[in-house]
Amino acid sequence: MDIKPFQSFLPTNVSFGVGVTRSIGELCAHKRVMVVTTGLKRSGILNRIIREAGTPADLLVFDEIEPNPTCESVDRGGYLARINEIEVVIALGGGSALDAAKAVACLRDEREEIVAASAGIRSYLLGERAFARRSTQLIAIPTTSGTGSEVTNVAVFSDPVNHYKKSMVSPWFWNDYAFVDPELTVTVPEKHTAATGLDALVHAIESFWAVSSTPFSEPIALEAVKLIMDHLLRAYHNPEDIGARTKVSLGSMMAGIAFSQTRTTILHALSYPLTVDFHLEHGFACSVLLKPMLQTNAPLIPKKVARLLDYLEAPSLERLLQRIEELMVSVDAPVHLKALGVQEKDLEGIADQTLRSPLTKLNPKAFTLEELIAWLKENR
Ligand code: NAD
Repeated sequence: MDIKPFQSFLPTNVSFGVGVTRSIGELCAHKRVMVVTTGLKRSGILNRIIREAGTPADLLVFDEIEPNPTCESVDRGGYLARINEIEVVIALGGGSALDAAKAVACLRDEREEIVAASAGIRSYLLGERAFARRSTQLIAIPTTSGTGSEVTNVAVFSDPVNHYKKSMVSPWFWNDYAFVDPELTVTVPEKHTAATGLDALVHAIESFWAVSSTPFSEPIALEAVKLIMDHLLRAYHNPEDIGARTKVSLGSMMAGIAFSQTRTTILHALSYPLTVDFHLEHGFACSVLLKPMLQTNAPLIPKKVARLLDYLEAPSLERLLQRIEELMVSVDAPVHLKALGVQEKDLEGIADQTLRSPLTKLNPKAFTLEELIAWLKENR
Protein backbone atom coordinates (compact mmCIF):
# COMPACT_ATOMS: atom_id res chain seq x y z
CA MET A 1 0.00 0.00 0.00
CA ASP A 2 1.33 3.45 -0.93
CA ILE A 3 1.48 5.78 2.06
CA LYS A 4 0.33 9.19 0.90
CA PRO A 5 1.17 12.23 3.02
CA PHE A 6 -1.50 13.04 5.62
CA GLN A 7 -2.17 15.11 8.70
CA SER A 8 -3.94 14.09 11.87
CA PHE A 9 -5.02 15.90 15.01
CA LEU A 10 -6.34 14.14 18.13
CA PRO A 11 -6.21 16.50 21.08
CA THR A 12 -8.62 14.77 23.51
CA ASN A 13 -7.32 13.01 26.59
CA VAL A 14 -9.33 9.76 26.59
CA SER A 15 -10.00 7.38 29.49
CA PHE A 16 -11.86 4.21 28.52
CA GLY A 17 -13.28 1.42 30.67
CA VAL A 18 -15.65 0.58 33.49
CA GLY A 19 -15.25 3.01 36.39
CA VAL A 20 -13.11 5.62 34.63
CA THR A 21 -15.44 8.50 35.52
CA ARG A 22 -14.20 8.24 39.13
CA SER A 23 -11.30 10.52 38.20
CA ILE A 24 -13.43 13.53 37.20
CA GLY A 25 -13.24 14.74 40.81
CA GLU A 26 -9.67 15.97 40.26
CA LEU A 27 -10.81 18.15 37.36
CA CYS A 28 -13.78 19.60 39.23
CA ALA A 29 -12.22 20.36 42.63
CA HIS A 30 -12.97 23.96 43.70
CA LYS A 31 -14.22 24.86 40.21
CA ARG A 32 -17.56 26.23 39.09
CA VAL A 33 -18.99 23.28 37.21
CA MET A 34 -21.97 22.96 34.89
CA VAL A 35 -23.36 19.57 33.84
CA VAL A 36 -25.09 19.77 30.45
CA THR A 37 -27.39 16.80 30.04
CA THR A 38 -30.65 15.34 28.79
CA GLY A 39 -33.33 13.66 30.92
CA LEU A 40 -31.03 11.18 32.68
CA LYS A 41 -32.29 11.78 36.21
CA ARG A 42 -34.23 8.53 36.44
CA SER A 43 -31.35 6.35 35.24
CA GLY A 44 -29.23 7.21 38.30
CA ILE A 45 -26.37 8.28 36.01
CA LEU A 46 -26.69 11.98 36.81
CA ASN A 47 -26.50 11.36 40.55
CA ARG A 48 -23.46 9.13 40.10
CA ILE A 49 -21.61 11.82 38.14
CA ILE A 50 -22.56 14.56 40.63
CA ARG A 51 -21.17 12.34 43.40
CA GLU A 52 -17.99 11.65 41.47
CA ALA A 53 -17.49 15.36 40.74
CA GLY A 54 -16.46 15.52 44.41
CA THR A 55 -15.91 19.01 45.76
CA PRO A 56 -16.62 21.63 43.10
CA ALA A 57 -17.02 25.25 44.26
CA ASP A 58 -20.47 25.12 42.67
CA LEU A 59 -22.34 22.64 40.49
CA LEU A 60 -25.17 23.63 38.19
CA VAL A 61 -27.22 21.06 36.26
CA PHE A 62 -28.62 22.22 32.93
CA ASP A 63 -30.88 19.39 31.80
CA GLU A 64 -33.00 21.14 29.19
CA ILE A 65 -31.21 19.66 26.18
CA GLU A 66 -33.59 17.75 23.94
CA PRO A 67 -32.74 14.98 21.42
CA ASN A 68 -31.44 16.73 18.28
CA PRO A 69 -30.58 19.84 20.31
CA THR A 70 -32.18 23.09 19.20
CA CYS A 71 -30.48 26.44 18.84
CA GLU A 72 -32.78 27.79 21.57
CA SER A 73 -31.73 25.34 24.28
CA VAL A 74 -28.06 25.73 23.38
CA ASP A 75 -28.34 29.53 23.60
CA ARG A 76 -30.02 29.24 26.98
CA GLY A 77 -27.26 26.95 28.24
CA GLY A 78 -24.63 29.41 27.01
CA TYR A 79 -26.39 32.25 28.79
CA LEU A 80 -26.53 30.31 32.08
CA ALA A 81 -22.86 29.33 31.79
CA ARG A 82 -21.97 32.99 31.21
CA ILE A 83 -23.89 34.49 34.10
CA ASN A 84 -22.72 31.74 36.45
CA GLU A 85 -19.07 32.19 35.38
CA ILE A 86 -18.69 28.46 34.74
CA GLU A 87 -15.14 27.07 34.59
CA VAL A 88 -15.77 23.40 33.75
CA VAL A 89 -18.51 22.09 31.43
CA ILE A 90 -19.33 18.39 31.77
CA ALA A 91 -21.32 16.96 28.89
CA LEU A 92 -23.30 13.96 30.11
CA GLY A 93 -25.53 11.98 27.77
CA GLY A 94 -25.83 10.94 24.19
CA GLY A 95 -24.65 12.95 21.21
CA SER A 96 -27.31 15.57 21.83
CA ALA A 97 -25.91 16.53 25.24
CA LEU A 98 -22.31 16.23 24.05
CA ASP A 99 -22.89 18.46 21.03
CA ALA A 100 -24.88 21.01 23.00
CA ALA A 101 -22.18 21.25 25.66
CA LYS A 102 -19.54 22.12 23.05
CA ALA A 103 -21.53 25.18 22.00
CA VAL A 104 -22.57 26.05 25.56
CA ALA A 105 -18.89 26.09 26.58
CA CYS A 106 -17.95 28.37 23.66
CA LEU A 107 -20.97 30.69 24.01
CA ARG A 108 -20.03 31.14 27.67
CA ASP A 109 -17.10 33.31 26.53
CA GLU A 110 -18.98 35.48 24.06
CA ARG A 111 -20.05 38.95 25.10
CA GLU A 112 -23.74 39.22 25.93
CA GLU A 113 -24.43 41.92 23.35
CA ILE A 114 -22.64 40.01 20.58
CA VAL A 115 -24.63 36.86 21.22
CA ALA A 116 -27.87 38.85 21.32
CA ALA A 117 -27.09 40.90 18.20
CA SER A 118 -25.97 37.97 16.08
CA ALA A 119 -28.82 35.75 17.32
CA GLY A 120 -26.82 33.10 19.17
CA ILE A 121 -25.59 29.75 17.90
CA ARG A 122 -27.52 30.13 14.61
CA SER A 123 -25.02 32.68 13.32
CA TYR A 124 -22.13 30.28 14.01
CA LEU A 125 -24.03 27.38 12.49
CA LEU A 126 -24.65 29.37 9.31
CA GLY A 127 -20.98 30.36 9.12
CA GLU A 128 -21.61 34.07 9.74
CA ARG A 129 -19.37 34.02 12.82
CA ALA A 130 -16.71 31.67 14.19
CA PHE A 131 -15.73 30.92 17.76
CA ALA A 132 -12.35 32.38 18.62
CA ARG A 133 -11.71 30.87 22.04
CA ARG A 134 -12.99 28.72 24.87
CA SER A 135 -11.82 29.35 28.42
CA THR A 136 -13.75 26.54 30.14
CA GLN A 137 -12.53 22.97 30.37
CA LEU A 138 -14.77 20.66 28.36
CA ILE A 139 -15.30 17.10 29.60
CA ALA A 140 -17.42 14.58 27.69
CA ILE A 141 -19.05 11.56 29.32
CA PRO A 142 -21.04 9.67 26.67
CA THR A 143 -23.95 7.51 27.82
CA THR A 144 -24.78 6.12 24.37
CA SER A 145 -22.46 4.27 21.99
CA GLY A 146 -22.95 5.91 18.66
CA THR A 147 -22.10 9.47 17.86
CA GLY A 148 -18.40 9.49 18.79
CA SER A 149 -18.94 13.16 19.69
CA GLU A 150 -16.58 12.73 22.65
CA VAL A 151 -13.62 12.54 20.25
CA THR A 152 -14.71 14.85 17.43
CA ASN A 153 -14.76 18.60 16.80
CA VAL A 154 -18.23 18.28 15.26
CA ALA A 155 -21.61 19.30 16.65
CA VAL A 156 -25.05 19.08 15.10
CA PHE A 157 -27.91 21.47 15.86
CA SER A 158 -31.51 21.76 14.80
CA ASP A 159 -33.31 24.96 13.99
CA PRO A 160 -37.01 24.08 14.10
CA VAL A 161 -37.95 27.71 13.40
CA ASN A 162 -36.16 27.75 10.06
CA HIS A 163 -36.63 24.03 9.51
CA TYR A 164 -33.13 22.63 9.17
CA LYS A 165 -30.58 20.48 10.97
CA LYS A 166 -26.93 21.20 10.33
CA SER A 167 -23.50 20.13 11.52
CA MET A 168 -20.64 22.50 12.25
CA VAL A 169 -16.99 22.06 13.13
CA SER A 170 -14.84 24.25 15.29
CA PRO A 171 -11.33 23.82 16.64
CA TRP A 172 -12.84 24.77 20.04
CA PHE A 173 -15.23 21.79 19.94
CA TRP A 174 -12.55 19.20 20.76
CA ASN A 175 -13.16 17.98 24.29
CA ASP A 176 -10.24 18.36 26.69
CA TYR A 177 -11.18 15.06 28.32
CA ALA A 178 -13.42 12.14 27.38
CA PHE A 179 -14.39 9.51 29.94
CA VAL A 180 -15.95 6.57 28.13
CA ASP A 181 -17.48 4.08 30.56
CA PRO A 182 -19.45 1.31 28.79
CA GLU A 183 -21.38 0.69 32.03
CA LEU A 184 -23.20 4.00 31.48
CA THR A 185 -24.81 2.55 28.35
CA VAL A 186 -26.56 -0.45 29.94
CA THR A 187 -29.75 1.57 30.53
CA VAL A 188 -30.04 2.66 26.91
CA PRO A 189 -33.38 1.29 25.63
CA GLU A 190 -33.31 -1.46 22.98
CA LYS A 191 -34.41 0.72 20.07
CA HIS A 192 -31.84 3.37 20.85
CA THR A 193 -29.08 0.77 21.27
CA ALA A 194 -29.87 -0.22 17.69
CA ALA A 195 -30.04 3.32 16.32
CA THR A 196 -26.85 4.52 18.00
CA GLY A 197 -24.95 1.33 17.11
CA LEU A 198 -25.90 1.74 13.47
CA ASP A 199 -24.89 5.42 13.59
CA ALA A 200 -21.44 4.28 14.73
CA LEU A 201 -21.30 1.60 12.02
CA VAL A 202 -22.10 4.21 9.37
CA HIS A 203 -19.42 6.56 10.78
CA ALA A 204 -16.87 3.81 10.44
CA ILE A 205 -17.88 2.74 6.93
CA GLU A 206 -18.23 6.32 5.66
CA SER A 207 -14.85 7.27 7.13
CA PHE A 208 -13.32 4.21 5.45
CA TRP A 209 -14.76 4.91 2.01
CA ALA A 210 -14.39 8.73 2.21
CA VAL A 211 -12.14 10.28 -0.42
CA SER A 212 -10.50 12.04 2.56
CA SER A 213 -9.49 8.78 4.32
CA THR A 214 -5.84 8.40 5.30
CA PRO A 215 -3.49 5.49 6.06
CA PHE A 216 -4.01 6.44 9.72
CA SER A 217 -7.83 6.64 9.72
CA GLU A 218 -8.46 3.54 7.60
CA PRO A 219 -7.28 0.81 10.01
CA ILE A 220 -9.11 2.52 12.89
CA ALA A 221 -12.29 2.61 10.80
CA LEU A 222 -11.91 -1.04 9.79
CA GLU A 223 -11.55 -2.23 13.38
CA ALA A 224 -14.55 -0.10 14.38
CA VAL A 225 -16.67 -1.72 11.64
CA LYS A 226 -15.66 -5.17 12.90
CA LEU A 227 -16.30 -4.43 16.58
CA ILE A 228 -19.78 -3.10 15.85
CA MET A 229 -20.78 -5.75 13.29
CA ASP A 230 -19.66 -8.52 15.65
CA HIS A 231 -21.16 -7.25 18.91
CA LEU A 232 -24.14 -4.94 18.31
CA LEU A 233 -26.69 -7.73 18.17
CA ARG A 234 -25.51 -9.12 21.53
CA ALA A 235 -25.71 -5.68 23.17
CA TYR A 236 -29.18 -5.24 21.67
CA HIS A 237 -30.53 -8.53 23.04
CA ASN A 238 -28.64 -8.44 26.35
CA PRO A 239 -28.45 -4.79 27.45
CA GLU A 240 -26.56 -5.63 30.63
CA ASP A 241 -23.89 -7.73 28.88
CA ILE A 242 -20.97 -5.50 29.78
CA GLY A 243 -18.64 -7.41 27.43
CA ALA A 244 -20.81 -6.61 24.42
CA ARG A 245 -21.44 -3.04 25.60
CA THR A 246 -17.67 -2.54 25.96
CA LYS A 247 -16.97 -3.76 22.41
CA VAL A 248 -19.69 -1.51 20.96
CA SER A 249 -18.51 1.49 23.01
CA LEU A 250 -14.95 0.94 21.82
CA GLY A 251 -16.16 0.56 18.23
CA SER A 252 -18.20 3.74 18.51
CA MET A 253 -15.27 5.71 19.93
CA MET A 254 -12.88 4.37 17.29
CA ALA A 255 -15.39 5.23 14.58
CA GLY A 256 -15.50 8.74 16.07
CA ILE A 257 -11.70 9.00 15.96
CA ALA A 258 -11.71 7.79 12.35
CA PHE A 259 -14.33 10.24 11.11
CA SER A 260 -12.84 13.09 13.16
CA GLN A 261 -9.95 12.81 10.69
CA THR A 262 -11.99 12.37 7.51
CA ARG A 263 -15.56 13.57 8.21
CA THR A 264 -18.57 11.52 7.12
CA THR A 265 -20.09 11.48 3.63
CA ILE A 266 -23.39 11.39 1.79
CA LEU A 267 -25.27 9.07 4.19
CA HIS A 268 -24.95 11.66 6.95
CA ALA A 269 -25.94 14.42 4.54
CA LEU A 270 -29.04 12.38 3.62
CA SER A 271 -29.85 11.81 7.28
CA TYR A 272 -30.51 15.49 8.05
CA PRO A 273 -33.65 15.95 5.90
CA LEU A 274 -34.82 12.46 6.96
CA THR A 275 -34.54 13.47 10.63
CA VAL A 276 -36.08 16.92 10.22
CA ASP A 277 -38.93 16.02 7.86
CA PHE A 278 -39.67 12.39 8.76
CA HIS A 279 -38.65 12.43 12.45
CA LEU A 280 -36.49 9.38 12.03
CA GLU A 281 -33.97 8.59 14.79
CA HIS A 282 -30.56 9.89 13.75
CA GLY A 283 -28.89 6.46 13.57
CA PHE A 284 -31.70 4.95 11.48
CA ALA A 285 -31.71 7.99 9.21
CA CYS A 286 -27.99 7.39 8.55
CA SER A 287 -28.21 3.62 8.07
CA VAL A 288 -31.41 3.18 6.07
CA LEU A 289 -29.57 3.64 2.74
CA LEU A 290 -26.26 2.08 3.81
CA LYS A 291 -26.63 -1.11 1.80
CA PRO A 292 -27.50 0.49 -1.58
CA MET A 293 -24.85 3.21 -1.11
CA LEU A 294 -22.16 0.59 -0.42
CA GLN A 295 -23.28 -1.20 -3.55
CA THR A 296 -23.05 2.05 -5.57
CA ASN A 297 -19.69 3.13 -4.17
CA ALA A 298 -18.03 -0.31 -4.34
CA PRO A 299 -17.02 -0.31 -8.05
CA LEU A 300 -15.30 3.08 -7.53
CA ILE A 301 -13.13 1.86 -4.63
CA PRO A 302 -12.20 -1.75 -5.47
CA LYS A 303 -9.04 -1.82 -3.31
CA LYS A 304 -10.84 -0.53 -0.25
CA VAL A 305 -13.67 -3.00 -0.75
CA ALA A 306 -11.18 -5.85 -1.00
CA ARG A 307 -9.58 -4.76 2.30
CA LEU A 308 -13.00 -4.46 3.95
CA LEU A 309 -14.03 -7.96 2.83
CA ASP A 310 -10.69 -9.36 3.94
CA TYR A 311 -10.86 -7.69 7.37
CA LEU A 312 -14.42 -8.87 7.98
CA GLU A 313 -13.69 -12.31 6.50
CA ALA A 314 -16.59 -11.87 4.11
CA PRO A 315 -16.31 -14.07 0.98
CA SER A 316 -17.91 -11.49 -1.34
CA LEU A 317 -19.51 -8.06 -1.46
CA GLU A 318 -22.92 -9.71 -1.89
CA ARG A 319 -22.38 -11.70 1.31
CA LEU A 320 -21.30 -8.56 3.20
CA LEU A 321 -24.35 -6.63 1.96
CA GLN A 322 -26.49 -9.54 3.13
CA ARG A 323 -24.80 -9.51 6.58
CA ILE A 324 -25.44 -5.79 6.93
CA GLU A 325 -29.09 -6.21 6.01
CA GLU A 326 -29.48 -9.18 8.37
CA LEU A 327 -28.00 -7.16 11.22
CA MET A 328 -30.28 -4.21 10.50
CA VAL A 329 -33.38 -6.41 10.30
CA SER A 330 -32.40 -8.26 13.51
CA VAL A 331 -32.22 -4.98 15.46
CA ASP A 332 -35.51 -3.84 13.93
CA ALA A 333 -33.96 -1.02 11.91
CA PRO A 334 -35.68 0.24 8.76
CA VAL A 335 -34.09 -0.93 5.50
CA HIS A 336 -36.33 0.96 3.05
CA LEU A 337 -37.40 4.59 2.88
CA LYS A 338 -40.83 3.46 1.70
CA ALA A 339 -41.57 1.85 5.05
CA LEU A 340 -40.94 5.23 6.70
CA GLY A 341 -43.61 7.02 4.74
CA VAL A 342 -41.18 8.69 2.32
CA GLN A 343 -43.05 9.12 -0.94
CA GLU A 344 -41.76 9.64 -4.44
CA LYS A 345 -42.81 13.30 -4.36
CA ASP A 346 -40.53 13.85 -1.32
CA LEU A 347 -37.36 12.68 -3.06
CA GLU A 348 -36.51 15.88 -4.94
CA GLY A 349 -36.58 17.91 -1.70
CA ILE A 350 -34.45 15.30 0.10
CA ALA A 351 -31.92 15.22 -2.74
CA ASP A 352 -31.76 19.00 -2.96
CA GLN A 353 -31.12 19.42 0.78
CA THR A 354 -28.59 16.58 0.77
CA LEU A 355 -26.49 18.09 -1.99
CA ARG A 356 -26.25 21.38 -0.10
CA SER A 357 -24.07 19.60 2.44
CA PRO A 358 -20.30 19.69 1.75
CA LEU A 359 -20.14 16.12 3.11
CA THR A 360 -21.48 14.84 -0.21
CA LYS A 361 -18.20 15.85 -1.85
CA LEU A 362 -16.38 13.25 0.24
CA ASN A 363 -18.44 10.35 -1.11
CA PRO A 364 -16.70 8.16 -3.72
CA LYS A 365 -19.69 8.51 -6.06
CA ALA A 366 -20.39 12.15 -6.95
CA PHE A 367 -24.06 12.81 -7.67
CA THR A 368 -25.79 15.52 -9.65
CA LEU A 369 -29.26 16.48 -8.42
CA GLU A 370 -30.92 14.46 -11.19
CA GLU A 371 -28.72 11.44 -10.47
CA LEU A 372 -29.47 11.54 -6.75
CA ILE A 373 -33.22 11.82 -7.33
CA ALA A 374 -33.05 8.84 -9.71
CA TRP A 375 -30.90 6.88 -7.22
CA LEU A 376 -33.35 7.57 -4.41
CA LYS A 377 -36.26 6.47 -6.61
CA GLU A 378 -34.46 3.25 -7.43
CA ASN A 379 -33.52 2.53 -3.83
CA ARG A 380 -36.58 3.83 -2.00
P1 NAD B 1 -29.45 11.45 22.14
O1 NAD B 1 -28.31 12.09 22.79
O2 NAD B 1 -30.38 12.33 21.36
O3 NAD B 1 -30.29 10.67 23.24
C1 NAD B 1 -31.52 10.05 22.91
C2 NAD B 1 -32.30 9.74 24.16
O4 NAD B 1 -31.64 8.71 24.90
C3 NAD B 1 -32.41 10.94 25.10
O5 NAD B 1 -33.73 11.03 25.56
C4 NAD B 1 -31.46 10.61 26.21
O6 NAD B 1 -31.85 11.17 27.45
C5 NAD B 1 -31.54 9.10 26.26
N1 NAD B 1 -30.34 8.47 26.86
C6 NAD B 1 -29.05 8.77 26.59
N2 NAD B 1 -28.24 7.96 27.29
C7 NAD B 1 -29.05 7.13 28.00
C8 NAD B 1 -28.79 6.08 28.92
N3 NAD B 1 -27.56 5.67 29.23
N4 NAD B 1 -29.86 5.46 29.49
C9 NAD B 1 -31.13 5.81 29.17
N5 NAD B 1 -31.43 6.81 28.31
C10 NAD B 1 -30.39 7.45 27.73
O7 NAD B 1 -29.00 10.27 21.19
P2 NAD B 1 -27.66 10.03 20.36
O8 NAD B 1 -28.04 9.13 19.26
O9 NAD B 1 -26.56 9.62 21.24
O10 NAD B 1 -27.29 11.45 19.74
C11 NAD B 1 -27.95 11.94 18.61
C12 NAD B 1 -27.47 13.36 18.31
O11 NAD B 1 -26.06 13.37 18.09
C13 NAD B 1 -28.11 13.89 17.04
O12 NAD B 1 -28.42 15.27 17.19
C14 NAD B 1 -27.02 13.71 16.02
O13 NAD B 1 -27.15 14.58 14.91
C15 NAD B 1 -25.79 13.99 16.83
N6 NAD B 1 -24.53 13.45 16.28
C16 NAD B 1 -23.38 14.12 16.52
C17 NAD B 1 -22.18 13.65 16.03
C18 NAD B 1 -20.90 14.40 16.29
O14 NAD B 1 -19.86 14.06 15.76
N7 NAD B 1 -20.91 15.41 17.09
C19 NAD B 1 -22.13 12.46 15.31
C20 NAD B 1 -23.31 11.79 15.09
C21 NAD B 1 -24.51 12.28 15.59
